[in-house]
Amino acid sequence: MLVHICCSVDSHFFIEKLQQEYPDEKLIGFFYDPNIHPYSEYQLRLLDVERSCQKLGIELIKGEYDFENWMDAVRGLEKEPEKGSRCEVCFDRRFEISAHKAIELGESTMTTTLLVSPKKSQEQLIRSGEVFEETHGVKFIPFDYRKNNGTADQGRVSREQQLYRQDYCGCLYGLSMQRDQQHRLMDEMFSPISKQILPASIEERLELYSHRNELEESGTPYRILKERFLNYRLMRASVKMGSEIIPSYPLFYSTINRTTTEGKIDFEINGQFFLNREEVRFITLDTFNALTSSAYKNTQELMFNAPSIETEMALRTQLSGNPFNTSAIIVVDTIPIEKISLLLETKTYEDTRENLFVWN
Ligand code: SF4
Repeated sequence: MLVHICCSVDSHFFIEKLQQEYPDEKLIGFFYDPNIHPYSEYQLRLLDVERSCQKLGIELIKGEYDFENWMDAVRGLEKEPEKGSRCEVCFDRRFEISAHKAIELGESTMTTTLLVSPKKSQEQLIRSGEVFEETHGVKFIPFDYRKNNGTADQGRVSREQQLYRQDYCGCLYGLSMQRDQQHRLMDEMFSPISKQILPASIEERLELYSHRNELEESGTPYRILKERFLNYRLMRASVKMGSEIIPSYPLFYSTINRTTTEGKIDFEINGQFFLNREEVRFITLDTFNALTSSAYKNTQELMFNAPSIETEMALRTQLSGNPFNTSAIIVVDTIPIEKISLLLETKTYEDTRENLFVWN
């Protein structure tokens, strides 16, 4: 039987149940989910599904990430709510490719792990599956593992197995609607030009779960725990002298009261040049290089290839003497001597992130 897989939280429990009920059935997992956005999130879910299938001892086939075709299929349905007609098209698309894969492999039956997700309409899934049964001749089996307290059991299994538990369905449209309703920043979509791995970003999780797999392979005990912290995102920043924009790089957690300010350098203490407004301070790239043991040739290079957030945080603490400091600290090639205009649009917000605790 071909089992279309959407994510490890659904698939691990669902496949475990199938294996218990049908021990003689050969199961083939098929991860085909081009709806997942951004690509890093797709990679993260796939990573966890690979681990889960390995644990369960079933073969996994990866489908193509044909995101453009999926976008074409749902065009015009962007504003539909979850469980609406965009989701129907999304299921149709995933089932069609899964049915083709089943035919290619000579399998006559298929199912989907989406059936166990409490957030999906089983009626919609069954309707979509039955259409492909009629048109493609691949029998769709709608197992119901939600019943008999299945959803609670699924939650227990996902905690015990320390699976990656995503907090949105998958697509860009569902995510943006969900974040709007939660009045939350859609920080999944940030892709900094600095190439840094931002706190609580998908890229950070991808690193964490990859490291988790390495720990498991080496038999090192670990636990994934959530922690609360203060997160930060930089939206836009510039420093202007007259009409000329000066290359500049604000350190992580740089904030000002509003989005813009103007002023002149007032005084200098130990290589830090203080503006006469908003507690803003500037340092030169030479100072930055010296204090972080870096060798950037110019600020532009720093902007496009910044060091880790941890390096920046250590520098901020060193410069300010205060780990809670959120003043704007801006790196420039040379300190501006004339009046400057600063634009700094940022968001600081309470957030949670996963953390890996390792026993020695
Ligand atoms: S909300 Fe989920 S099921 Fe609906 S279209 Fe988006 S990814 Fe597909």
